[in-house]
Amino acid sequence: MTTVLDSREHPTGFVEKTPEEQYAAPAKPSLIGFSRAELAAALGSVGVAPAQQRMRAQQIWNWLYVRGATDFAQMTSVSKELRAGLAERFTLARPEVVAEQISVDGTRKWLLRLPGEDDRRPHEVECVYIPETDRGTLCVSSQVGCTLNCSFCHTGTQRLVRNLTAGEIVGQVMVARDRLGDGTTEGSRLVTNIVMMGMGEPLYNFEAVRDALLIVSDDAGIAMSKRKITLSTSGVVPNIARAGAEIGVMLAISLHAVNDELRNELVPLNRKYPIAELLEACRNYPGLSNARRITFEYVMLKGVNDQLADAKALVKLLKGIPAKINLIPFNPWPGSRYECADWEQIEKFSDYVFNAGYSSPVRTPRGRDILAACGQLKSATEKLSIRERMALRAMALTD
Ligand code: SAH
Ligand code: SF4
Repeated sequence: MTTVLDSREHPTGFVEKTPEEQYAAPAKPSLIGFSRAELAAALGSVGVAPAQQRMRAQQIWNWLYVRGATDFAQMTSVSKELRAGLAERFTLARPEVVAEQISVDGTRKWLLRLPGEDDRRPHEVECVYIPETDRGTLCVSSQVGCTLNCSFCHTGTQRLVRNLTAGEIVGQVMVARDRLGDGTTEGSRLVTNIVMMGMGEPLYNFEAVRDALLIVSDDAGIAMSKRKITLSTSGVVPNIARAGAEIGVMLAISLHAVNDELRNELVPLNRKYPIAELLEACRNYPGLSNARRITFEYVMLKGVNDQLADAKALVKLLKGIPAKINLIPFNPWPGSRYECADWEQIEKFSDYVFNAGYSSPVRTPRGRDILAACGQLKSATEKLSIRERMALRAMALTD
């Protein structure tokens, strides 16, 4: 594992910001995450005439998302006056990278610091990049922590929760692009897919997730195809149809159990929206077809949900829904009460599902050594004091 420290890295050691610097809310808003209409209004606020706002907004959009400008000074096609006016009121800031970890398998995890709310203590979220031979997937967070307490998920144990803004969600994509040097040369795109599978339940932060994904998929910007973006939900039924209608990305459902009794235990939200209602919402998902299937995620827990009888029930349950089944080996975390199913058992389960006609890839755990795998994400904000964090970073520096 390599740990690279950013922003407070210092040749002679480690420099921590003063408490004032640390907790100061940003004085100026970043344009990252503004919708086109908000961008046009921002231009109006610095004196651009209404008739010109759309065209100028288009130009700035291109600088932000196609060219990845990080400084107004780079925007050479924009007049000096306008650049200065914008710089006075706005920034192009992305979330601050506190640490970058690189797994032995090439997976990268960024710990990002975001401003806090009332008490102004900063929050932290994680974002993970998973390179594969034919694609590169960015796993993006939608909340700090999660209000749902799935019993096998590390994120669910984090008490502190807040919704991310659209800018903070788009900001994760920008951080990844900046750090990977993505999009700088023609045809060398490294982030080819985005999954909303980081920290948080995206459908409990609907508007921000929607606005962010519409920016990421905007043709004149990052232009990520909606078919390459997957939103994963633990089953917030009322927002599933909305996601289809207003966002139009691919859907993944964290199913994990084939009967309500077990699902109530694993995914407590099931008490509110039981399996039958959830699957009904899936059947009605706008745009659903054999070419646009729903992915059902199923975490393999030893002796809990990994029997052949479960596989059979799963196939029966999904009958009639264009579906893919994604088997996820359980990723342990400190204090977790489950074990990962045995490999043989996972193969048996997978064979059964495959023979029943479903594509059933077993998701290879990635980045386990840096706790970057599914369900292992949990930012350290609430657990570690600044002193402890400094000690940890100092250790990392001398690794
Ligand atoms: N909150 C959303 C998206 C984030 S979780 C959701 O629950 O769908 C992304 C995926 O990782 C989900 O399918 C989740 O159930 C799964 N997951 C959570 N903890 C895990 C763990 N410890 N091991 C393997 N997968 C896990
Ligand atoms: Fe939240 Fe998803 Fe984890 Fe459940 S699995 S606690 S919904 S992040």
